[in-house]
Amino acid sequence: MTHDAHQKVKASHLKRNAYLYVRQSTLRQVLENTESTQRQYALRQQAVALGWPLDRVIVIDTDLGQSGASAADRQGFQRLVTEVSLARAGIVLGLEVSRLARNSMDWHRLLEICALTDTLILDEDGVYDPAHFNDRLLLGLKGTMSEAELHVLRARLQGGIRNKARRGELFVRPAMGFVYNADGKLVIDPDQQVQQSVRVLFETFRRTGSAMATVKFFAEQGLQFPRRVHTGANKGDTVWAGLEHSRVLRILHNPRYTGAFVYGRTHTRKTVDGDCVIERVPPEEWEVLIREKHAGYIDWEEYERNQRHLRDNCQSYGADRRKSPPREGPALLQGLLLCGCCGKRMTVRYHSRRGQLSPDYVCQREGIEHAEAICQHIPGSNIDEAVGNLLVEAVTPVTLEVALAVQQELQSRLEEADRLRQQQVERSRYEAELARRRYLRVDPDNRLVADSLEADWNAKLKMLAEAQELCERQREQDRKAVDDQQRAAILSLASSFPQLWRDPAMPDRERKRIVRLLLEDVTLVRSDGIMLHLRFKGGAQRTIQLPLPLRSWEQRQTSKEAVAEIDRLLDLHTYPEIAAKLNECGMNSGEGNPFTARIVAGIQRRYGLRSRYDRLRAAGLLTLEEIAQVLHLSTTRVKIWLRHGLLCGHAYNNSNACLYEHPGENPPRKAQGVRYSKRLPPTQVVAARTVEVQCEA
Ligand SMILES: [Zn+2]
Repeated sequence: MTHDAHQKVKASHLKRNAYLYVRQSTLRQVLENTESTQRQYALRQQAVALGWPLDRVIVIDTDLGQSGASAADRQGFQRLVTEVSLARAGIVLGLEVSRLARNSMDWHRLLEICALTDTLILDEDGVYDPAHFNDRLLLGLKGTMSEAELHVLRARLQGGIRNKARRGELFVRPAMGFVYNADGKLVIDPDQQVQQSVRVLFETFRRTGSAMATVKFFAEQGLQFPRRVHTGANKGDTVWAGLEHSRVLRILHNPRYTGAFVYGRTHTRKTVDGDCVIERVPPEEWEVLIREKHAGYIDWEEYERNQRHLRDNCQSYGADRRKSPPREGPALLQGLLLCGCCGKRMTVRYHSRRGQLSPDYVCQREGIEHAEAICQHIPGSNIDEAVGNLLVEAVTPVTLEVALAVQQELQSRLEEADRLRQQQVERSRYEAELARRRYLRVDPDNRLVADSLEADWNAKLKMLAEAQELCERQREQDRKAVDDQQRAAILSLASSFPQLWRDPAMPDRERKRIVRLLLEDVTLVRSDGIMLHLRFKGGAQRTIQLPLPLRSWEQRQTSKEAVAEIDRLLDLHTYPEIAAKLNECGMNSGEGNPFTARIVAGIQRRYGLRSRYDRLRAAGLLTLEEIAQVLHLSTTRVKIWLRHGLLCGHAYNNSNACLYEHPGENPPRKAQGVRYSKRLPPTQVVAARTVEVQCEA
C-alpha cells in the first residue's frame, strides 16, 4: 500500500464502513475459479491495512453467479449503490472494475454517487477518489475498457459462430430423430424405433391437420415418443414417454426436419429493466438457411404447408388468424365464413329453439371493437341445409373412391402403429437381456451388487411383459374394429354418402371435416335475401340464393289457409264448432297444436275478421228483445219457444246467446194449454233462410 493511498483515506472515511463487493459471472466460475474468488475475499485485508477494523468491512457476495453486464437482477450491486448513496460507505472494494460493472452506464452512475458522497474506491492497483478529476478519468477509462473487453470477447466468439453457421457447420444440439455420426455429420437416427416415431408424427399431422389430434392419436394408440436427456448423470440418453402438444409444435415448427440448416430463428433482446426476452424471427429474416444440407423427414414444401396449417388452426385473435379447426357444435360452416360486407371472418353464436341448438352466423368483430352495431347477423340453419344439399349433390360420384382410400389408409395406419409397438417390445427384450447378462456376470458372493442387479433384471422383465401385453391387446382391438364395424361402415359409405351425411349419429365435427375437405371458404351477404358464394378446393365456385328466413314470430303464425277457412266457417258455426271442424281436417295452429274455441276467437280478433254476431245481424237476424217485441212475448218465453223449436235461433258466442230469425208472416201462435209440439214448427222457413244467410255473407 503506497503512501498516496494512505493520504486519500481520511478519518471521515474511516468512520464509515468499508464494502467489499464479490462477484463471479456464472455458477461454473464460482465452482471452478476458486482462486479468483479467494483473491476477491482477500481484498478485505487491504481495507484493514488502510485502517478499517475487520468487523467494519462488510462483504456483499449475493451476486455470485450473476453476470456484470447489467445491474438488473444483481441485488448485491443494488444494495451497494444504496449504501453508497446514503453515505454509509467510506470505501468500496472490488478486485477489478469489471467486477463492479461491465456496463458503462451502471459504472458511471456509481462513480458519480461516490463523488457526491465522498466515497473512495479501491481495486488491486490502488485507491481512487472519484471526486478528483484524474482519478475519475482513470476509473471511467477502466470501466470503458472493461465493457470493451466484454464486447470484443463476445464479438470474437459470435464471429466464429456466425462464420461456422454460414457454412452450415455449426454444431447445434440435434433435434430428436437426428444424431451426429462419427464424421460429425448430422444424419437420421439409425435407431428404427426413434425414426419411425418421428415419421408417424409427421404422417399423423398430415392426415389430421392438427397438432392436438396428433397427440390424441399417440395417446389412444398407447404410443410413446422419444426424448433426449440434456442434463444430469444420464445426459445423452434417449428416454420414452407420452407425446405432448408442445413437443409436436416444436417439431412441426423446426425446419431442420426438412434437412435444412438454419441459424438465427430467434433473437435475444434486452428490455428496459435489463431482462432478456427471446423473440422469434420471421423466416425471411433468418440469418442462415441452407436447404437440403442433410437427409430429412419431410420436404420443404410440406414444412411450409404445415406452417400454414398451424397458422390456420391458431385460436388466438390477431392479424394472422385464419380458419379455426372444426369444433363440436352443429354449425356446419364454423370457421369457413367470410363476411361479404367487410371481409372479416364471421363467428358462430348458438341459440336454442325447441330444445335444439340452432346456429347464427355473425360478423361482430368491428362492432365490438368500436362499440357500434354489428355488421351482419344471419340465422344459419337453412344455410347449413342448403350447403349440405349442394355437397351431397357434388360428392356422390366420387364416394366409392373416397371410401376405398379411407379404408386403405386406416389399414396402413394401424399396421404402422403395430410396427412401432413391436419395436417397443424388441427394445424391452433387449434391455431385459442386457440386465440378465449383467446379473450373470457378477460374482455371486458380492451380494450387494448381485441383489441390485437382480432387482434391475426383474424390473426389465416386468416392462417387457407389459409391452408385450399392450402390443397384443392393441392388435386384437385393431383387428376387431376394422373387421366388424368399420368395414361395414365404409362399405355403406361407398353406397350411400347422402345417407351418411344425414345420419343423425354422425358427429357434427366429422361432417365439418368433410366440408373442409371440399370447401375453401364461404362468403355471406344479407340483403333482400341471403347470398352464399362457395369456393371449392379446386377453385370452382357456386352461388346460392336463399330467401330470408322467417322470424320467430313468423314461424309461429297461423297459416293463411286456416285463416281463410275460419273466415268461411264463421258464417255457419260457433267457435267450438269451427275448432272441431278444423281439427277434423287435420289443420293445426301456428304453434302446431290442435285448435280450440279460444284460439279461433283469438284469430278472429287478430285478423280483424267480421264477428259472427255482425254477420248474423247483417243477414237480418233479430236480437232477443226485438223478436220478443215482434211476437209480443216476454224474453223468457222467447227462450222457451226456442227450446221447443217454435223459433229458429243461431248461437253467436260460447255461452249460446242467440240471434233469431224473423218468424215470417205466419208466426207460431200463442195458444194457452196447447202442447208446444202441436203448434206450428217453422222448419221449412228456417231452412230456406239459413241458405240465404250463407249467400249474403
Ligand atoms: Zn362484416
